[in-house]
Amino acid sequence: MADDYYQILGVDRTASAEDVKKAYRKLARKYHPDVNPGNKAAEDKFKQVSSAFEVLSDPKKRKLYDEFGPDAEKIGFDEKKAEAYRAYRSSAASGGAGGIPFGAEGFDLGDLFNDLFGGRGGAGGVDPNDFFGARRGRSAGPERGEDLTARVQLSLGEAVAGTERTLSISRPGRCSACSGRGDSGRMGTCPTCGGSGRSRRAGLFGGNGVCPNCQGTGRALEPCPQCGGTGVKEEATRLTVKIPAGVSTGSKVRLAGQGAAGSRGGPPGDLYIETDVTEHPLVRREGDDLHIDLPVTVPEALLGADVRVPTFQGEVTVKVPPGSQSGRRMRLKGRGVPSLKGGAPGDLYLHLQVKVPEEATAEARAAAEALSRAYRGDVRRELTL
Ligand SMILES: [Zn+2]
Ligand SMILES: [Zn+2]
Repeated sequence: MADDYYQILGVDRTASAEDVKKAYRKLARKYHPDVNPGNKAAEDKFKQVSSAFEVLSDPKKRKLYDEFGPDAEKIGFDEKKAEAYRAYRSSAASGGAGGIPFGAEGFDLGDLFNDLFGGRGGAGGVDPNDFFGARRGRSAGPERGEDLTARVQLSLGEAVAGTERTLSISRPGRCSACSGRGDSGRMGTCPTCGGSGRSRRAGLFGGNGVCPNCQGTGRALEPCPQCGGTGVKEEATRLTVKIPAGVSTGSKVRLAGQGAAGSRGGPPGDLYIETDVTEHPLVRREGDDLHIDLPVTVPEALLGADVRVPTFQGEVTVKVPPGSQSGRRMRLKGRGVPSLKGGAPGDLYLHLQVKVPEEATAEARAAAEALSRAYRGDVRRELTL
C-alpha cells in the first residue's frame, strides 16, 4: 500500500483534522523543494505528501477516500459517481440475484466503467484488475491487518543520542500474486457450494437455500492459489527504523502501516518498536536525568581543579570548587537525556567522590600528617544520634 495517503502522512486512519495538518506541515517542511534544491527524491516525496494532504484535509474527499480507497480518485471524488459506484458494487457483490451477470453476452465492461468514471484510457482510465477487485463477491470483506510489535535492545548512549536500526522481520505481507485481493481473477466452480448453487446450511441464518457466495450461480472467482484467498502471505523483510533520542525501556515507536497486511485488500496494521535500554555500569538514569560518580583526588577536592568529564554529548571540563567534600553534587544543565515529549532535556549530575592514594608512601604519610593538622576540630563532632 505504497500509495496509502494515511501512510504517506504517517497518521492513523482515525487521525483528527488537526493531526493531519500537523503531520503535513512537518513533512512539507522536510521535503519542500526550497529546502532540498535539486533533490528529485525529496521533490517526489513532497508531491506525494501534498496529494495526500489535499485529499485528507478535505472532509468530503477524505470520506470518499476512506470508503473507496484509490478508486475515489477515479470517481473524481464526485458524490454522484460514488453513489453509482456504490450501487454497482453492491449489485456486483450479490452476484446473479438482480446483479450484472458476469460474462453475459452484450455486456461491455468498458462501457460500464466509462459511464462510471468517464473516458477510456485517459486520467480516468480503468485497470481491468480493479474491475475484478470491485466485483469480487465474498463471504468475508476486507479486514485491517494486525498490529505487530518488535523489540529492540539499545545502549544508554544510543537512547540518549537516538539511532537507526535495520530489523529483519517476518510478517504477514500483501500477496503479490493477487495484489492482496485474494482471488485469482478467474471464474471457476464456487468453492462454497461446490458448484451446486445451493447452501448446505439452508435455514441456519434464515437463508433461502441459495449459496451466499455465488448467489446460486455455482460460479465464483477462484481463490488465489498463492495465499488461499486471504490476500496475505508471510514475508521476510528488512526495515530501517529511526529510534528517536530519549527513549527508555518500554518506549514504543509506531511505524504506521508497517504491521501485518490486511486480508482481502484491507488496510495494514501498524508496527510498534518497543525499546529496551540496557543499564549502564557507570551511569544511573532517573527519568531524563543522569547521575555519575566523579572521582577526584584529595588535592583536587581541597584546592579545587578543572577536571575532564565524559558525557554522551562529548567531553566537558568541570570546575571542582576548592574545599569540595565527597558526595558534593554538581549539575550540568541539559547534559542528560533529551525529552521524548519535546520538552527540556534532563540534566547530568556529578557526585564527587574523594579518592585517597592507593598506597601510603613515606611522602604521602608526611603529607597526610601535615593535612591532619589542617582540620579545625573533630570531623565527627556533629555526628550525634
Ligand atoms: Zn456457491
Ligand atoms: Zn494471493
